[in-house]
Parts: sequence; structure tokens; C-alpha cells
Amino acid sequence: MDKQLFDTQRNHQNIFYRKLSKRTLLTNWLAILTANLLSPNLEAKTVKKETNKEKNTSRNIHEYYMRLAIKEGKNVPKYPFGAVIVNRLTGEIVSKGYNQSTHNPILHGEIVAINNCAKHKIKILWSELDLYSTAEPCPMCQSAIEWAGIKNVYYGSSIPFLQGLKWEQINIRAQEVSDRTPFRNTKIIGGLLEGECNKLFLTA
Ligand SMILES: [Zn+2]
Repeated sequence: MDKQLFDTQRNHQNIFYRKLSKRTLLTNWLAILTANLLSPNLEAKTVKKETNKEKNTSRNIHEYYMRLAIKEGKNVPKYPFGAVIVNRLTGEIVSKGYNQSTHNPILHGEIVAINNCAKHKIKILWSELDLYSTAEPCPMCQSAIEWAGIKNVYYGSSIPFLQGLKWEQINIRAQEVSDRTPFRNTKIIGGLLEGECNKLFLTA
């Protein structure tokens, strides 16, 4: 190869690499810019999606346990107060109970569930437990829940709703009992499957 041809080829090569280099840089820069512009949105979208999924899963789990409480309540259609105690950490259904006040006036569903729990479980970590009840716990039951140290309470029908249906109810809300229990920090969540629970009491 003569020198002139060699030089010409090298020049073309250099121009090509310079062009390639510029193009590569531009492409890389665009890629970085696009990634930076898009990624926060993508990330936010993913997080939002996961949160909604978690919420749905969480709601489904709570509804599942409440359906078991409803099933308990249906054992006594005239007094459809059913309760289920669940280990929040393992998902184990620890005990169940339904209203037996026709035999003993203080045997409300929650009390029966707590008694069953104490009877059958040798070692109980009460703070790991949550209680699901078709109706808002009365002051007696909420006090028992506080003494036991059950962490979270989920209920369907509220005390005012039951009073509206002329059910005998002591006029103290579960939240008030909880607020007046300084040695616990029980969380009370009402309105879980409220429609289905209300239906139980409407048709009792
Ligand atoms: Zn009660």
C-alpha cells in the first residue's frame, strides 16, 4: 500500500471513529437523560402499585378472618355475636367463640374466644394476637381484651347501629375503654365487612 492511500484510509478511519465517538456520546447522554427523567416516575409507579397490592392483600386477610367470625356468629342466629382470635405473626387461628349468654349472661362471643384461647394454649403471647368480632366489643369485652393484652380489634357492626336496632347496649364505645386504659395501646378498627355484619343483626 502506498503512503498516500494509507494516509487517506487512516484519515477516513479517524473521521469515522470521531463520528462514532460523538454519536456514542450523544446516545449515552440521551440514555442517561431519559433514564433520569423516567426512572423517578417508574419508581413511584412501582411503589404505588406495590402499596395498593399490599393494601388489597391486607384487606383480604382481615376480611377472611371476619368471615370466620361471621360464621361463628351464625351458630346463634338470634344473637349473632361471633369472635375469632388470630396470631397476627403466624396467621394461626388461635380460638373462636360465639355468644352463649342464654346459658351465662356474661358469655359474649369475645369472652368465649378469650376463654377458649386461655384454655387450649399453654404458652400465649397475647400481644401477638388480634381479635375479630362481628360487633363492636361492649365495655365488658373491651375491658377483657385490654386485660388480656390483645393488640388489635377489628369489628363489623357498631354499638350505635345495634342501639338503633333496639339491641341492649351499654353506652360506652370500645375506643373509650381503650383510651382509658393507660397501660395498653390497643388499636380498634371498626367497619370491617360492616354490611355483612349489619345484615346478621338486621335479620336476627
Ligand atoms: Zn361484650
